[in-house]
Amino acid sequence: MNEQIYEIGIAARIKMNAHSLNNEGTTGNVTEPRTVVLADGRKTDGISGEMLKHIHAAYLFHLAKEEKENSLCESCKSFNPMKADGNSKLKGKSVVDALNEALSCELCDIHGFLVQEPTLSRKSTVEFGWALALPEQFHRDIHVHTRVAPGEKTREKGVSEQMIYNRPTRSGVYAFISVFQPWRIGLNEVNYTYKINDPIRKKRYDLAIDSYKSMFTRIEGAMTTTRMPHIEDIEGVMIKTDDAQPVPLISPLKEDYIKEIEKISQSVQKFTSLSELLKALDNLKQTSPYKLGA
Ligand SMILES: [Zn+2]
Repeated sequence: MNEQIYEIGIAARIKMNAHSLNNEGTTGNVTEPRTVVLADGRKTDGISGEMLKHIHAAYLFHLAKEEKENSLCESCKSFNPMKADGNSKLKGKSVVDALNEALSCELCDIHGFLVQEPTLSRKSTVEFGWALALPEQFHRDIHVHTRVAPGEKTREKGVSEQMIYNRPTRSGVYAFISVFQPWRIGLNEVNYTYKINDPIRKKRYDLAIDSYKSMFTRIEGAMTTTRMPHIEDIEGVMIKTDDAQPVPLISPLKEDYIKEIEKISQSVQKFTSLSELLKALDNLKQTSPYKLGA
């Protein structure tokens, strides 16, 4: 129980089929998938970091709601995306006091926020890169669908109930990266003191880990009502540091990323399946969040 964790990194390859988790938007009746241009000019398919962070936040909210006594602020109680900016208790307070008040909320603390009055920001303790398809291992299709209206063909003013629309599906092996910074849980980064006591920091640490477990167990996103991803494989590494050193993260876009990470870090745990990843995450709960200057 005494091992303290400064940072945790996850680098993985996730093989997913026929999903449409994240899209550029809809033009007319065509939904466009997300495209990212890589350093070498190749185009690939992507799922934004915003989407992945949102999935983690949504699960954290669900898990926090399940607790008998959660510490969600008035804004996060209804999963308002404004987070601390919608918390009336911050109004009229100094920056330090407003930040302390905002840190009382476990979702605001872990996922960060921007407040307009007083002007205040907190960087999230969990970070996600875009999930990027390996450029030689992805496929896209645009499918034509029809909303079928049996019987009556037109409504008043000639509007057809039968509608044609185009939606993408994508399949690929996606490079995933994420970093979690337990040392920052409950830390007021204006005056560098911990606002939150150790048992509560530990509870929030476990909550963030459980949210990772939920998000890997079920990757939610756009269009999952009809395009639930067929997830085949997940493999990669979990890296951790127990002193004030950042975890090395080499993108799983690179073929030998695991070997390279292993050369840099002593604390690398490989996983080759979802169950192994979930177990590795569970084992983390036997450790505690690192505390600066402890
Ligand atoms: Zn909040």
